[in-house]
Amino acid sequence: MASSYEALRERLRTINNINKAGAVLAWDQQTYMPPGGVHDRGAQLATLAQLSHGMFTGDDFGELLDLAEDEVKDLAYESDEASIVRVTRRDFEKQRKLSADLVGRLRRHATESRNVWVKARQDDDFPAFAPFLQQTVDLSRETADAYGYEDRPYDALVDVTEPGMTTADLEEIFGTLREQQVPLIKEIVSRPQVDDSVLHQPYDEAKQEAFGKLVVGRLGYDFNRGRLDRTVHPFEIALSIDDVRLTTRYDPNFLSMSLFGTMHESGHGMYEQGMGRELAGTGLARGGSAGLHESQSRLWENIVGRSLRFWKAFYPELQRTFPDQVGNVPLETFHKAINKVHPSFIRVEADEMTYNMHIMLRFELENDFLEGRLEVRDAPEAWRARMDEYLGVVPPNDREGVLQDTHWSTMLGGFAGYCLGNVFGAQFWEKAIADRSGIPDEIEQGEFGSLLEWLQQNIYRHGRKYQPKELVQRVTGKPISTQPYIRYLKAKFSEIYGPL
Ligand code: ZN
Repeated sequence: MASSYEALRERLRTINNINKAGAVLAWDQQTYMPPGGVHDRGAQLATLAQLSHGMFTGDDFGELLDLAEDEVKDLAYESDEASIVRVTRRDFEKQRKLSADLVGRLRRHATESRNVWVKARQDDDFPAFAPFLQQTVDLSRETADAYGYEDRPYDALVDVTEPGMTTADLEEIFGTLREQQVPLIKEIVSRPQVDDSVLHQPYDEAKQEAFGKLVVGRLGYDFNRGRLDRTVHPFEIALSIDDVRLTTRYDPNFLSMSLFGTMHESGHGMYEQGMGRELAGTGLARGGSAGLHESQSRLWENIVGRSLRFWKAFYPELQRTFPDQVGNVPLETFHKAINKVHPSFIRVEADEMTYNMHIMLRFELENDFLEGRLEVRDAPEAWRARMDEYLGVVPPNDREGVLQDTHWSTMLGGFAGYCLGNVFGAQFWEKAIADRSGIPDEIEQGEFGSLLEWLQQNIYRHGRKYQPKELVQRVTGKPISTQPYIRYLKAKFSEIYGPL
């Protein structure tokens, strides 16, 4: 490759090193840092972010990008070189659109507003948080204006986390899901309910940890290039392709939290460990979008990890680990318990069937805020009305309603990926088992190599080369569709609740 492209690669490597040094500090902050360190750590992270932002958005970087663009213009769209230049150009243009002033105000708002939100949630005091939510709405509008959009303000925000997708795309996807899922949920709730008391017993934390590690190691998460630590809000973080870390939290009286939480994060982790090495040191060596990332965590956690086949392989080991808790519990009882559907108030505790409704509600209210159809003061009531409509339950207070998530203390537009992940995940899964029909039987034997290799070849190694619509089309030969997900839900929950 000619010299400007190599010079661009070198510059990207330096910027990436700064960003990853920041990631180490962020990981440390959320795992081992003493609470007293929080103030200075914030300043350290801000310095690194400014340094990297300055290097990435400077005029000299733009000139280098122009030259490199010229050098790769005849290369194939799929080539690493053309892709690295194309995606870097997109990131460059986006980052340059936010002024230093706006970025500074966004950061200050995030810090102040998050503190107010923590207290307002504790006190169940929406009026105390309302002025800050108003600022979030105003700043989100300003950010959308700065990025620019043709049609709807939300278009500009969703394009950051789901490149190439629009509000109209999401409305179509969410609309079909709502039409299908609301009646399914109503039907399931009317059937005899599942008893999940087997999961709510004392489970020794050290044994939970050992079992969780055993499971995700067998799935294919590589502990030579990763580790598992404890935190309050679990996450996965990649410090490089060869150092991808997971975190989890334990409830000593509830098995699901850590077990499925760890499987979830391991899905994110295997995605990052599977990046193509030719993309290392660029902004392309990470998951393709929030929704694509979530497609992998949910595929491994839900489609694989909550299936009867999977537990045929792992239940005997679980029974050996916890003989007092599950030694005499039939596999079928356990399988039903881990798939119990129960409409509830809190998004992060929602089951697989009701989860999407929580996301739709937020997506709709965010658009209503941005487009002036909803005033901040009316948000609690709008929240309750939608909960009632979609899930048939109404939170008794705002702490379990509009105040439950931290997202609205900083920015709108952060939720769509959680729902898209379910849709993409099911679509990929359907294609994977069509391509390799042995996968389900292998899972029943506790073997996951064939599935992991398919995902690596088709999805993981591409990183951010392709946008979600492109990747889904390339991998499955079809545009994004909710049908595989609906088929999956009906088949799976028919096993638990009878034919649906
Ligand atoms: Zn996730």
